[in-house]
Amino acid sequence: WQRLKAGLFRTSSSIGTGITELFTKRKLDATTLEELEDILIQADLGLDTAARITEAVGKGRYDKAIDPEEVKRVLAAEVENVLAPVARPLVVDGARKPFVILMVGVNGSGKTTTIGKLAAKFRAEGKSVMLAAGDTFRAAAIEQLKVWGARTKSQVVAREQGADAAGLAFDALQQAQATGADVLLVDTAGRLQNKAGLMAELEKVVRVMKKLDESAPHAVLLVLDATTGQNAVSQVEIFGKTAGVTGLVMTKLDGTARGGILVAIAAKFGLPVHFIGIGEAVDDLEPFAARDFAHAIAG
Ligand code: GDP
Repeated sequence: WQRLKAGLFRTSSSIGTGITELFTKRKLDATTLEELEDILIQADLGLDTAARITEAVGKGRYDKAIDPEEVKRVLAAEVENVLAPVARPLVVDGARKPFVILMVGVNGSGKTTTIGKLAAKFRAEGKSVMLAAGDTFRAAAIEQLKVWGARTKSQVVAREQGADAAGLAFDALQQAQATGADVLLVDTAGRLQNKAGLMAELEKVVRVMKKLDESAPHAVLLVLDATTGQNAVSQVEIFGKTAGVTGLVMTKLDGTARGGILVAIAAKFGLPVHFIGIGEAVDDLEPFAARDFAHAIAG
């Protein structure tokens, strides 16, 4: 909880400080409620959610002084309501060998780092892990994945830069099956500049893996960078349509005062949120918990 609170500090201080300043000397009325709504919109909670929270705070309390802590309690409860249905753990089905997780998202969103963090988690649970360096477009991504492989003692399947990503994914799954790996994490490219090309590549990766295991991939995780704000919304739209996203990971929540974007995305799409990234270190990946998150950002 302390780590989560520290990680979400920028968002919680912008919301929390704003609420404290707003209601310390003024009563609750149409003007202060409007200012409250602005604070929530600034934190990227989304128009609908901001309006709903403001309404909940106002109910039955008009023209009276209100303790800022009470406002934060109502806020936390409303945010928790939005998040509870989407806060779902990533369940690795042990009957699937390997359990194949395809990681998608734009360049720089934190895909490779998240793969490393997940590999470390699975290793700590005693699982054997294989990593597929499927972002064959960028030499740096391949190298970075190898570093994570060495660090987490996970085998890495990689080819030279420019190699066919689908061919690599096929090889990796074949090897993972042959060696009896528990989990296969597949990295992918994220160059949105060539959207059609990227989506065709992702579809092909899925198609070839199905030749070896028709139930694969068992999870498709979209990695979103919280610091990109509303861009994250359009990324869910783009990847959700073609890549068959089954769940979300939101990274870099430690780097933004607008962490409310997670709430906006939860409200808009209803996709499961499995993990949040709150730092660059290997253990800075937290299973997503609605209540903790809601209370942490309420300040
Ligand atoms: P990729 O291009 O999607 O594979 O992105 P990377 O994994 O290379 O990450 C891009 C940058 O974001 C790197 O410098 C990471 O260390 C950093 N990063 C990833 N996740 C987090 C996070 O949760 N918090 C912070 N502060 N940085 C992160």
